[in-house]
Amino acid sequence: MKYSSKETAEKTEMLRVVRDEVFNLKTSPLYEYREKNHYHPVIGEGDHDAALMFIGEAPGRNEAEKGRPFCGASGKILDSLMDSIGLTREKVYITNIIKDRPPENRDPFPDEIALYAPFLDKQIDIIEPKVIATLGRFSMRYILQKFNIPESGQSISSLHGKVFDTEARYGKIKIVPQYHPAASIYNRATLEELKKDFLVLKTLLGT
Ligand code: URA
Repeated sequence: MKYSSKETAEKTEMLRVVRDEVFNLKTSPLYEYREKNHYHPVIGEGDHDAALMFIGEAPGRNEAEKGRPFCGASGKILDSLMDSIGLTREKVYITNIIKDRPPENRDPFPDEIALYAPFLDKQIDIIEPKVIATLGRFSMRYILQKFNIPESGQSISSLHGKVFDTEARYGKIKIVPQYHPAASIYNRATLEELKKDFLVLKTLLGT
């Protein structure tokens, strides 16, 4: 669905530039690991005019092998959560804060977040989503800090499912922190929380 003043073709071209910049990011501490394993960076995919952007943490092995976000076990959960509120991948944009797989899926380091975040910032400014749903604590913290949300230091267990209204460069935006889908794999209670929090997205989007 189209909300922005930019034409879709213009956005697609701008996103291609971001993709090329990430592909050539040889200064990244994760670049050597990418090359050694024949991995791909994972830039993001979906509707370039999406009203809703999901921001996860970093690609896992499946994602790095395919160059696509959330195409492993977490992705299955994300797909079914989207399905529960009438959304499909084609209607949203899905990306991560870190674009290359960290070794053995370890947590991203602060310098890695600092290196990759400008690409995420550009993706937000190009796509101009009305709603950002962060998946997990790393993207939650980064996005809440970026938009100067006073609660940014609080834990995900106290912030998930809440709606934060703020102003992006291009207009009003709502941020909804969510648990990371992987956190629900062995935890039924977290899955129930995620299902409830996705209903918040449904209300905001009117899907
Ligand atoms: N976990 C993430 O945070 N992102 C992905 O793309 C896959 C798993």
